Amino acid sequence: MTGQVVIVGSGHAGFQAAASLREEGFAGGITLVSADDGLPSQKPPLSKGFLQGKQTEESLLFRVPAWYETNAVTLRLGVRVVQIDPLGSQLKTETGDAIPYTHLILATGAANRPLPCPGADDVLYLRNLADARRIGARLEQARRVAIVGGGFIGLELAAVAAENRKTVTVVEAGSRLMERVLPPVLSGVFRRVHEQQGVQIRLNTVAQCIEKQNESYSIQLSDGQTVAADLVLAGIGVIPETNLAQAAGLVCDNGIVVNEYGQTSVSNIYAVGDCANQYNPFARRRLRLESVQNAVDQAKTAAKHLMGEAHPYRVVPWFWTHQYHLKLQMAGISAGYDQFSVAGNPETDTFSVYYYADGQLIAVDSLNRPGDHLKARKLLEAGSCLPAHSER
Ligand SMILES: Cc1cc2nc3c(=O)[nH]c(=O)nc-3n(C[C@H](O)[C@H](O)[C@H](O)COP(=O)(O)OP(=O)(O)OC[C@H]3O[C@@H](n4cnc5c(N)ncnc54)[C@H](O)[C@@H]3O)c2cc1C
Repeated sequence: MTGQVVIVGSGHAGFQAAASLREEGFAGGITLVSADDGLPSQKPPLSKGFLQGKQTEESLLFRVPAWYETNAVTLRLGVRVVQIDPLGSQLKTETGDAIPYTHLILATGAANRPLPCPGADDVLYLRNLADARRIGARLEQARRVAIVGGGFIGLELAAVAAENRKTVTVVEAGSRLMERVLPPVLSGVFRRVHEQQGVQIRLNTVAQCIEKQNESYSIQLSDGQTVAADLVLAGIGVIPETNLAQAAGLVCDNGIVVNEYGQTSVSNIYAVGDCANQYNPFARRRLRLESVQNAVDQAKTAAKHLMGEAHPYRVVPWFWTHQYHLKLQMAGISAGYDQFSVAGNPETDTFSVYYYADGQLIAVDSLNRPGDHLKARKLLEAGSCLPAHSER
């Protein structure tokens, strides 16, 4: 097959779409356009090994520079796309260039949700390598670090800062850490370990206002207390990057709505990764997932479909987080469980939680039990999940 595939976004989904198209034998042109200016690279280590100083920038690259030449993938880096013209099948960049396509793959990801409080202008967020460099430099200078958001990214940042002997405070609006995705038993283990490392955890608390005093900050909390910090970080969720798609008239609803092959409401435009909203047979509903596994597997499905192979997306979702010695691996989607059981020992931080709905296993979270995680993915894969819908 020939033609010109243009991919917008050079994250896990965009890179994988290019790689899979070549693996599938696509013989036409591939152009990868990205607002990021560095070579396509991984994100998960940014809040873990990279900030800990254990991983170099080079080790984050998906491929060495020569790979793009060998595979005839044209890189347009540091280039923001500002418009899609679906009727004329072309893109417009912020410098006014037009890029024609026969097929377009949107892999625009998501942007950090900004902290909605007065004085938040100096707050730093982590989304890409440039952010990580900035945070790394500021972290070296800071003695007291305040982190708003007790989700995965906020807590990974807290772990890095605490291991660097900083005075760390985490401010979380919910009543537990990682409440949206974890059961109380797991939230409890993470809280205990963070507190053992000296992290102060403020639950049921919102940052109401940040005041700058010389080079430090005073954060006023909803419980009437204040936290003093030299550096304020926030990880309070993301917003899917759907502006381009919406302006082009593609159907969007918490992400760009796609069918089981990744096609949007315009058949020669696909959307994959964090920006895509797709029916997931393992969650039994439409949703948007923010994970490397999902970005990679949706990109593979879209590339195959573009090459004429119609394999509906059906992969067990899985995620992970690393904080101190805690390695948590999650398989399946636990939301909506009506029963759970625990295998192993929560007191030694080595156990798995099995979630059921209507008597059927729907998800397994494994803490420091990688064997359980691998078995869980196989069990869930073999389970009798509902078939994928063919709706758009
Ligand atoms: C710090 C951090 C740690 C993480 N840790 C984990 C983890 O441990 N496990 C896990 O499973 N997931 C983790 N994730 C989530 C995971 O990295 C994302 O789900 C994944 O990167 C999504 O890939 P993507 O390609 O869809 O989007 P992204 O990686 O966000 O890429 C989007 C790309 O689109 C580009 N773009 C957007 N709009 C435009 C435009 N208009 N013009 C041109 N380019 C544009 C951006 O510049 C970027 O290159 C982490 C994420 C972060 C930020």
